Amino acid sequence: MSIQKRTYIVLLGVPGAGKGTQAKHLVKKLCLPQISTGDLFRFNLGNDTELGKLAKGYMDKGLLVPNEVTIKMVEDRLSDDDCQNGAIMDGFPRNLVQAKAFDDMVAPYGGVSAVPMLTITDDEAVERISGRYSCSDCGAVYHTKFNRPQKPDTCDNDGLKLTQRADDKPDVVKERLYVYYKETAPLIGYYFAKSLLSEIDGSQSIEEVQIGLISLLS
Ligand code: AMP
Repeated sequence: MSIQKRTYIVLLGVPGAGKGTQAKHLVKKLCLPQISTGDLFRFNLGNDTELGKLAKGYMDKGLLVPNEVTIKMVEDRLSDDDCQNGAIMDGFPRNLVQAKAFDDMVAPYGGVSAVPMLTITDDEAVERISGRYSCSDCGAVYHTKFNRPQKPDTCDNDGLKLTQRADDKPDVVKERLYVYYKETAPLIGYYFAKSLLSEIDGSQSIEEVQIGLISLLS
């Protein structure tokens, strides 16, 4: 029986490297959905679901939500109709257990297609995250220095007030970086060994990174 090949792109990079911003661009270019586990948890949190309540305790501290619930949530999301051609993974997998589980999920469709890693320094990550504000309704992300909204504190799309994520506050950001190096950085070697990893200089402008990503993926 022949497999139906799908495109699964895993974006790697420290918090603040630009994964979410670039994923939104790739959605339009590649006609694939963005699966952001952070957004899925925040959606659950906003809707006060059991999953949201559980995730909050970990997110507030900058820690990873347990694998079991995270993997199940991604499995459910990947079974949705809009994922029939693949997906752009933003924030998942985030450790080796998740990476192996993801391999199993996507193996029937040809496996992971590519793993672009956006690289920035830790200082840049902290600077970017601490100036980051988003619209809690449409999810648009802005930055006080790099990507200002037309009207201060206001979303360009819907005019709603922009807010800072609780886990973008400096002490939590430090913990998230620590968790990245401890838990997520081993995925660099994991995907390198599978010849899937490509590095992109994430300190370039948003447009330059977009161009680099598209040329890498086409
Ligand atoms: P993000 O928006 O990707 O920075 O994620 C925000 C928070 O959600 C993280 O700090 C974790 O607490 C949680 N989270 C997101 N993705 C995962 C994941 N793949 N595994 C475990 N926790 C996650």
